[in-house]
Amino acid sequence: MEIRLEGLTKVFTDKTGKETRAVDELTITVPSGKLVGLLGPSGCGKSTTLFMIAGLHKPSGGKIFFGEDDVTKLAPEKRGIGLVFQNYALYPHMTVRQNIMFPLENLNVSHKQALVLVEEMADLVGIKDQLDKKPSQLSGGQQQRVAIARALVKKPRVLLLDEPLSNLDARLRLQTREEIKRIQRETGITTVFVTHDQEEAMSISDQMVVLNYGVMQQMAAPQDMYNHPDNLFVAKFLGNPPINTFEGRVEKGNIIIGEDIVVGQTQAKDGIYAVGIRPEDFKVDPRGFEVSTDTIERIGRDTMIRFNLGGVAMRALLESDTVTTTETINLMVKPGKIHLFDLESGSVVL
Ligand code: ATP
Repeated sequence: MEIRLEGLTKVFTDKTGKETRAVDELTITVPSGKLVGLLGPSGCGKSTTLFMIAGLHKPSGGKIFFGEDDVTKLAPEKRGIGLVFQNYALYPHMTVRQNIMFPLENLNVSHKQALVLVEEMADLVGIKDQLDKKPSQLSGGQQQRVAIARALVKKPRVLLLDEPLSNLDARLRLQTREEIKRIQRETGITTVFVTHDQEEAMSISDQMVVLNYGVMQQMAAPQDMYNHPDNLFVAKFLGNPPINTFEGRVEKGNIIIGEDIVVGQTQAKDGIYAVGIRPEDFKVDPRGFEVSTDTIERIGRDTMIRFNLGGVAMRALLESDTVTTTETINLMVKPGKIHLFDLESGSVVL
């Protein structure tokens, strides 16, 4: 079931009359059966967007469609959604089985049918042997799977996840995110996944939406967005270690930093630009510009060096076997890997 947001807007007004545009004219389509990650810094409007899709917040403007259905004014329980929050919100006094079965109460489902559905869900999320335990007897990752099983037991039209992995430690977070992806693929349920963690969003999403101050910055497949950010905000938000950014000038097709260091070529017209180079897009090459390294750090297969180029501190992530421990090193930027942005608007130029 496709989800379509059209000009979706939420304005909060506090007691003094001050307005916050938490979500500003958001128009996106979440394709049927896909997982879309809503990503952005704290306060950018991710949760507010999800809550509007869920019907828990009333939009100030715009529309929400599930397929052809305009659900903008529909009550949450009539929308056919499954919701999972970061705190699993399981009932502590109930067993796992009772927790998963709970949403089926007051529905036209016999107890026998409900038991079958619960088994099916428990099987799907991989907790079939935990059904008679209480939530407190489970790990955080298992509790989150129970929450997902409970969200799916009514066979909702869409699944909405708000920072579902935040309460888990690093190892469980990785495992549970792989599980969520598998469950989503197996069920083919259209899913919106809210996170502030770029790596998490990149690993799990078919498409990502990056928000800043309630405004969509870009929607694209993770690798496309990483390789071709539409603006400086997206370029900086994605990537760890982060992209190197600096002011540079273009003169007759050369991109120049500092006095006269040519870091690459471009078709852009002469002028001053914000330049971005990802740390992994440098390579060692004797024909390149010479830099003196400040620190050299081995990180697994790669080596990270810090250096100064034309007065700007930068990082490069290089293949370890290309780096010697000498203090000077010659670097080049891989072809086509320099990003130029308009200095004022931050929009990508080339
Ligand atoms: P986080 O990752 O910190 O949860 P978020 O991206 O989910 O952030 P939202 O919770 O959607 O952000 O908040 C967006 C903006 O709207 C923030 O400026 C927030 O302070 C404001 N806001 C959210 N809920 C309310 C509310 N009920 N009343 C007033 N302002 C609110």
